[in-house]
Amino acid sequence: MLLKELREEIVETGIKILRTGLVTVTWGNISARDSETGYIAITPSALEYDKITPSDIVVLDAEGNVIDGKRKPSSETPMHLYIYSQRPEAKAIVHTHSTYATAIGVVRDEIPLIIGEVANAVGGSIKTARYGVEGTVDLGKAAVEGMSGRAAVILQNHGVVTIGRTLNDAFFNAVVVEDAAKVFCIAKSLGSITTIPESEAERLHQDFLETYGIQ
Ligand code: 13P
Ligand code: ZN
Repeated sequence: MLLKELREEIVETGIKILRTGLVTVTWGNISARDSETGYIAITPSALEYDKITPSDIVVLDAEGNVIDGKRKPSSETPMHLYIYSQRPEAKAIVHTHSTYATAIGVVRDEIPLIIGEVANAVGGSIKTARYGVEGTVDLGKAAVEGMSGRAAVILQNHGVVTIGRTLNDAFFNAVVVEDAAKVFCIAKSLGSITTIPESEAERLHQDFLETYGIQ
């Protein structure tokens, strides 16, 4: 099977986003880019995460031509392909509809640097992108603009997109976004927000990328 390990990892990541409550039913999607071939493996459209098997994952080239797989690729394939085309360092993308972050996108707010994890994983505040129609390249354009070089963005009236050097990175970032969104919503109801200085963000992010988890 072409890209067997990557497909297996995507299936496992699907289970993880389901178990951590970042998605319900079939919402969201996951992809990964193979460094050797440049091919992109992506979840099938409208199939529940706990039913997806490695053979359901669709392998595409960078233009979206199907290289291997019988299922219909995710409806957000144009967004994933556009993000990969603009962010060469991205090897994986996770798109969720996690509740608190999506709520922030509904009011078009952003998550400031309220907790260290956001600086660590994302490298700065998490913005809400301008509105883009689902299933279009324009949604990818909105996402890339909104990320402004960082690893996460909230999609207005829709959900969240994170990127990573690995599938686990992109998953980790999706968890950080939702955790930060929850803290933000609670903190706002308690009083005025304090933030970590922006000047700290880059250092915290670089330290994290270079040392966190490395034994
Ligand atoms: P797919 O099931 O086609 O991947 O779509 C889910 C989704 O989140 C659309 O934005
Ligand atoms: Zn979606």
